[in-house]
Amino acid sequence: MKKNILLIMTGGTISMKNVADLGVVPTSELADFLTKFPQLKGVANVEVMDHLNIPSPYMTPVMMFGLAKLIDEKIIDYDGVVVTHGTDTLEESAYMADLVLTTRKPVVFTAAMRSGSDLGLDGPRNIIGSVRVASHPDSHDKGVLVVMNDEIHTARDVVKTDSGKVDAFGSPGLGPLGLVDPDTVIYHRNCPYRESVWTDFIEPNIDLIRAHCGMDGKFIKTSIESGAKAIVIEAFGRGNLPQEIVPIIKEAIGEGILIIIASRTYTGRVLPEYGYIGGGKNLEDIGAILAGDLKGSKARLRLMALFGAHKDADLVRKHFISPRNSGQEN
Ligand code: ASP
Repeated sequence: MKKNILLIMTGGTISMKNVADLGVVPTSELADFLTKFPQLKGVANVEVMDHLNIPSPYMTPVMMFGLAKLIDEKIIDYDGVVVTHGTDTLEESAYMADLVLTTRKPVVFTAAMRSGSDLGLDGPRNIIGSVRVASHPDSHDKGVLVVMNDEIHTARDVVKTDSGKVDAFGSPGLGPLGLVDPDTVIYHRNCPYRESVWTDFIEPNIDLIRAHCGMDGKFIKTSIESGAKAIVIEAFGRGNLPQEIVPIIKEAIGEGILIIIASRTYTGRVLPEYGYIGGGKNLEDIGAILAGDLKGSKARLRLMALFGAHKDADLVRKHFISPRNSGQEN
C-alpha cells in the first residue's frame, strides 16, 4: 500500500529560478510543479505544505527549532515527512531536527544544487528519492536523514562539501548510510549514535569561532562581553590553539562560560593528546570540553538544545559528553 508522506517546503535553490537581471531568486512555482509530477504520484500519496520560501542563509536556529516542532506535530497524521531546504544550511536544520524530534517515523531533508532554470536540474530527482526513502520500512528509527544525489546520509555526519557540484553532500570519513537505486533503497551501514535532546526551548546565545594562525583573543572577548553561554572553537588538528589565547579561555571558563573544542579538520576527533600550552590536553586540563568528531556548527546547535533543556552549565557539560565524543566506554 502506498504511504502518506507530507512534503514541507522551506525554500532554497530547489524553489528558485534564474530571472533576467536579478539572478537566481525564489519563485512560488515548485509546489504547483510537484503536484503535477507523475513519477511522484507513483511512489506515495504526497501532500505538499508550503511552509516557507526563503534562501537557507536566512534560516536562524530559532527557525530551525520551529521547523522541527512543526515536523513533530504534523507527522502524527502521516507515515513520514520530507523537507525541502536550501543546501547552504541544510546540514544544520537537519541536525537540529535530529536532536529535538520525538518521532521515530522517517524524516528526510533534501534540496537541489541546480535551480528550476538549469539544465539537468536535480530537485525533482532528489524529492522523489527522498519520498522513496521516507516510504521505506528500513528508514524507521534512523534519525533524520539527508537524501541528495541518490545517497542517504545521517543529519549528524552530513556536510556540504562542494559549493557547486550536484554531488555536493558527503559524510567525510564515513561515507553514505545508503543509496537510492532505481529499484530499491539500500542501507549499507548503521549509525548507532543518537544524541536526542527533548526540549521545548533552545538557547541561541552560543558562539562559534574558527581558529586561524596568529589569532588573538578578540573574538572570544567579544563573546564573553555579549553574554554567550558557551563558545565553540574550531581548533587546529586534534584540538590545539595558539598559547596566546589560553588566558582569555581561562577567563571565559572562570565566568562560567562553557568552552567547547572541535576541530577545523575535515575528519577525525579532537583528543587530549598535546600537553603544550594551548594543546588539546592542556585545554581540557583547564576546563575546556572536547567535542570528539562533532563539527563545530553542530556542536553549537547541540549546546543550544542542551541549554534549552537543562539551563545549568554543569548539567549541559555532563550531557554534552557522549561516548562517541569523549571516548568513554559504555
Ligand atoms: N543559496 C541556496 C540556499 O541555500 C543554495 C541552495 O539551495 O542550493 O538557499
